[in-house]
Amino acid sequence: MPRRTKIVATLGPATDSPETMQAIVRAGVDVVRLNFSHGEAADQQRRVQMVREAAAKVGKDVGILGDLQGPKIRIEKFRGGRVTLQDGQRFVLDAELADDAGTAETVGITYKALPQDVRAGDALVLGDGEIVLRVLDVQGARITCSVENGGDLSNHKGINRQGGGLSAEALTDKDRRDIRFAAQLGVDYLAVSFPRDAGDIERARELLQAAGGKAGIVAKIERAEAIQNLDPIIRTSDAVMIARGDLAVEIGDAELPGIQKLIIHRARDLSRVVITATQMMESMIHSPVPTRAEVLDVANAVMDGTDAVMLSAETAAGKYPVKTIEAMSRVCAGAEKQRIMLRSGHRLDQRFERVDEAIAMAVMYTANHMDVKAIIALTESGSTTLWMSRIRSGIPVFAMTRHEATRRRVTLYRGVYPVAFDVMHTNPDDVWRSAADELKKRAIVKDGDFVICTKGEFSGITGGTNSLKILRVGD
Ligand code: PGA
Ligand code: MN
Repeated sequence: MPRRTKIVATLGPATDSPETMQAIVRAGVDVVRLNFSHGEAADQQRRVQMVREAAAKVGKDVGILGDLQGPKIRIEKFRGGRVTLQDGQRFVLDAELADDAGTAETVGITYKALPQDVRAGDALVLGDGEIVLRVLDVQGARITCSVENGGDLSNHKGINRQGGGLSAEALTDKDRRDIRFAAQLGVDYLAVSFPRDAGDIERARELLQAAGGKAGIVAKIERAEAIQNLDPIIRTSDAVMIARGDLAVEIGDAELPGIQKLIIHRARDLSRVVITATQMMESMIHSPVPTRAEVLDVANAVMDGTDAVMLSAETAAGKYPVKTIEAMSRVCAGAEKQRIMLRSGHRLDQRFERVDEAIAMAVMYTANHMDVKAIIALTESGSTTLWMSRIRSGIPVFAMTRHEATRRRVTLYRGVYPVAFDVMHTNPDDVWRSAADELKKRAIVKDGDFVICTKGEFSGITGGTNSLKILRVGD
């Protein structure tokens, strides 16, 4: 059985050769992430080109996700590149200090309004939480802190306030430029970093559409406020990312497991896609095998129902990008075999609003209660397969479509596999059978197997799915 959970891998220097790119696609990458926080436009352009070529070589649809930097607040630079802070010492964040003049007593900050946003008593967390500063006093541009958790601090580390509440708007000027660039690159998904509410997502979508982009919008849940506005954010997005790195810093690591489960559950319930991200295979940046804790982390996200799991530095800058993907793929497939993963209680008590939605639900109910080998959805936009994939099941769903953009969109949907198939050039009396034959050619089904197919009355119309057929291959 093919793996259902999708793998998103971040590109970077470690994946920058055509050979490695092909190897990671072969190893099982479904979607690649371009991180607009690092690298120049030319790097991103070159990577898009390389992915498209590798995907064509391997013969697989690979989605591309462009990830905006967002208003990540960072310290500026130190004279010597890094300093060591002692517990209990004073340390000043100074919005007016020259950007390369940092010392062990003071450093500049990228967000000049930070002094207006913090008050005495606030805790500021640096990096991934290694360093904690307690604000003693704010005067003009200077935030004087006492070091609560000291340690090594290097240039450009991120700053978050514990509990959230910094007012920086989600889209910076750089993000606005990057949205236009992402539209030009033709990415399949665009991730918005640090959204506070649904309005931030709507603004990103407007800018994307104005630039002619058709990407799905991914909301990164990484601020405390976003948890307060979770449902509206999910509803205005196509997918959400549990951005555990920044999120844990804002809400505290102890809150993270419960919030991860809540976000996965809400996203599936609202028929949206969900990605679980950050540090999933962190030790594999340096090691060829994952820790047991990482194995369990990936497996638990799969069992919670995530559509996709994401790799960051593990593939972008790690020593073993291909091995990491192989390990992640193996662990996902192992977790999916568990019995609880094959049954669903999703939406048992809800009514269906649309005909295509009702058909999708009927298919999944039937598939889960009958010996069916595959589900074939003849689809234009892929929306039928999205509904299907919200239902837990062990049966693969094949999104058969003539649209390349749809094939790349469904790369993120759990248990859904893109297949190129042109209904418009198939004899209408024969569509069901031709579609099943397509899977037979790929040795996914054989004569005698049951498959369930869905399609619309009139081929080529979006949202028109209104029929379901059960057929036996070869009859
Ligand atoms: P980042 O987002 O890798 O862009 O920071 C993910 C996270 O915060 O976990
Ligand atoms: Mn982040």
